[in-house]
Amino acid sequence: MFGEDDDDDAEMKRCFRVDIDGTRAKFKLTKEDWARIPVKSFRSGGRSLSGHWSRIFADKIKESNPWCNVRFKNNYVRSANSRKVHSSVFFRGGAECKRPECSVKMKFVIREEYGNQVEVTYNGNVCHRAGE
Ligand SMILES: [Zn+2]
Repeated sequence: MFGEDDDDDAEMKRCFRVDIDGTRAKFKLTKEDWARIPVKSFRSGGRSLSGHWSRIFADKIKESNPWCNVRFKNNYVRSANSRKVHSSVFFRGGAECKRPECSVKMKFVIREEYGNQVEVTYNGNVCHRAGE
């Protein structure tokens, strides 16, 4: 995965391409959004977002990335009794584009408890084959 060879270049030319690698974006979650995103607790002590979170996130990601069709991978909410409560973020999550030819991955961070701001970091570039 170091550098690009000729095959990759040819592949890229057949793609609809947008360079977003390293781009940072933000979107907002309103109180109404949070009302649809319950935080679920597990017996293990772990927590995660549930309810409509993936639909809501997918909708808001379109503000900064209208191209990719997003599949959510992991989602982790800081445990309620964490001793590191002041040093750790409230939520971390990840997602990627569903298209196999596209290398876009994204990471989400919500720093404050039920915060209204979600930070998005993009990794990889949009590459979508035409006509699919
Ligand atoms: Zn994509």
